Amino acid sequence: MGLLEGKKGLVFGVANEWSIAWHVARRAADEGAAVGFPHLPGEKMERRVRRTVESIGDAWLYPCDVSNDAELDKLFAAAGEKFGALDFVVHSIAFANRDDLQPGAFVKTSREGFRLALDVSAYSLVAIANRARELIPAGGSIIAMTYLGGERVVPGYNVMGVAKAALDCSMRYLASDLGEKGVRVNCISAGPLRTLSSSAVGGIDDMLGAFAAKAPLKRKIDADEVGKTAVYLLSDLSSGVTGETIYVDAGFHTLGA
Ligand code: NAD
Repeated sequence: MGLLEGKKGLVFGVANEWSIAWHVARRAADEGAAVGFPHLPGEKMERRVRRTVESIGDAWLYPCDVSNDAELDKLFAAAGEKFGALDFVVHSIAFANRDDLQPGAFVKTSREGFRLALDVSAYSLVAIANRARELIPAGGSIIAMTYLGGERVVPGYNVMGVAKAALDCSMRYLASDLGEKGVRVNCISAGPLRTLSSSAVGGIDDMLGAFAAKAPLKRKIDADEVGKTAVYLLSDLSSGVTGETIYVDAGFHTLGA
């Protein structure tokens, strides 16, 4: 029997087969979960997401821009009709203007660029958790994807680092609010991976090279390793864990020099 047998959840953030969200969803489905996929609206995006997730069978897709409250309301109403209760939600979403992700450019971040990055990449977790709590019973689990650039300076990560700091802190406050209901909230801090989002970060190639050379495991991580840790956090194996960040980064975050 799979670790997530009989569980149902939403995985936000599949854009293509490189998306971390897809690797999480595939592992969750392998462990027996039924998964729904909210995605950015648009026919092209829907086609891409459908093609990416088709291998797990009859997948439920629903358009939702997470910066739009009305769309979030519609999504959760539809998810309630489709699934009844939800056992888990995966937040794997981030966005910032490409111009704001160039090394040395943080000081020039505009008010609008700052607002956009924090709204889509951090506030959305709060907006999602607030709606999901109506559907998640005790034992439920919410996870979000974060990165070391929210704790330390990573050249080029810039305003996304500020957004990750807000996401990390939101995760802890949500864990406190939802803990009474028996719902857990945690983050996975992944090492750098080549995806659509990370390709917007200036200097990502240098970052990947340096990472593999210096990380204690002396290699990059692969996205499936994030998927495996996600299964742990979504399953009852982690029933005593909340408000926590688990690093899937080949040990990179432990380095001091
Ligand atoms: P990705 O581009 O595949 O995923 C980002 C997703 O966010 C996409 O599916 C995109 O459609 C979605 N999105 C953006 N704006 C949205 C909006 N307004 N409404 C709804 N969806 C929206 O890239 P990824 O690397 O898989 O990123 C997933 C998460 O993992 C992000 O939070 C990212 O910061 C985090 N992360 C990535 C890395 C990495 O190196 N790739 C490392 C650590 C953490």
